[in-house]
Amino acid sequence: MLGQKLLCWYAQNARDLPWRKNDDPYRVWVSEVMLQQTRVEAVLPRYEAFLRELLDVAHLAAVPDERLNKLWEGLGYYARARNMKKAAMKICELGGFPSAYEELLRLPGFGPYTAGAVSSIAFHKRHAAIDGNLLRIFARLTASDTPVQNPGLKLRAEAYFLERMPQGCDPGTFNQALMDLGAGICTPGNPSCESCPVQAHCEAYQTNTTDLYPVRAPKAAKKEESFAVYLIVQGEKAYVRKRPGQGMLAGMWEFPHHLDKEYKGKTLVSYSHIFTHRIWHMDFMQPLAPPPIDPDWILVDSRALQALPMPSAMAPFRNEALKHIK
Ligand code: SF4
Repeated sequence: MLGQKLLCWYAQNARDLPWRKNDDPYRVWVSEVMLQQTRVEAVLPRYEAFLRELLDVAHLAAVPDERLNKLWEGLGYYARARNMKKAAMKICELGGFPSAYEELLRLPGFGPYTAGAVSSIAFHKRHAAIDGNLLRIFARLTASDTPVQNPGLKLRAEAYFLERMPQGCDPGTFNQALMDLGAGICTPGNPSCESCPVQAHCEAYQTNTTDLYPVRAPKAAKKEESFAVYLIVQGEKAYVRKRPGQGMLAGMWEFPHHLDKEYKGKTLVSYSHIFTHRIWHMDFMQPLAPPPIDPDWILVDSRALQALPMPSAMAPFRNEALKHIK
């Protein structure tokens, strides 16, 4: 059976990951949220640092927003961190981590994937945890022509994997086996079908059509924006500003910029950052005539500049700025 073969393979091939050392729901939750849209290699160092400082739900509930953004720096999708803090406050109010899937779903930031992962891995409840990796495996196993963006595919994948979860097995182990299959064998490009434990159950493999799945609906074009980002230095300090508390990159720090290149100057670094729905093309420049200084801008020295939480889109400019204010 597919489930047994998968579990036997996992027993020999499970990845050694720090969040698998125990089933503490807080540790499982933090890892699952960090891993959404982010590679394991990028998560590993930040996961350790996050847990060293925010030991448990109570610490997370009490952490200042600025510090939380700093601990999340480089992981992107900062709304995840803000929602985690809100959920931590709610969990403290409840007096502990809820274990039921439906209760988890009511927490800020918890969707079916996170609720399924936490309830199955930390509380050993029989739930699926369907993310993009599992959708890909399911689409290939069943040679499904339904685009992965179609919510119906997720429901079918959930039913399919739950049906094949062996009775009596640990649901968390089964779900993690599927996660590892997606990460190491049934990868997006060139799946390693010859090493795959469920090859005999895979319709795409049997029909030599693995390259056709999963089917994707065409993506909407990303919105592109070009602008100048300013390095305005005074002595050994540079101006930065804080983004609004709501919306994209809320509460993060950045160098001042305008949505045009009105202020001409010497370009120090050009960089394009790709977000989920937009692309920023930026020139980091020292303006010939400094723009009017906004009262919200503040001057920071090199130490403060390194300590402030800044989005990855600003990282090359921070490195450049540090050369000018040392
Ligand atoms: Fe994926 Fe290939 Fe395994 Fe099918 S046989 S599940 S395509 S790795």
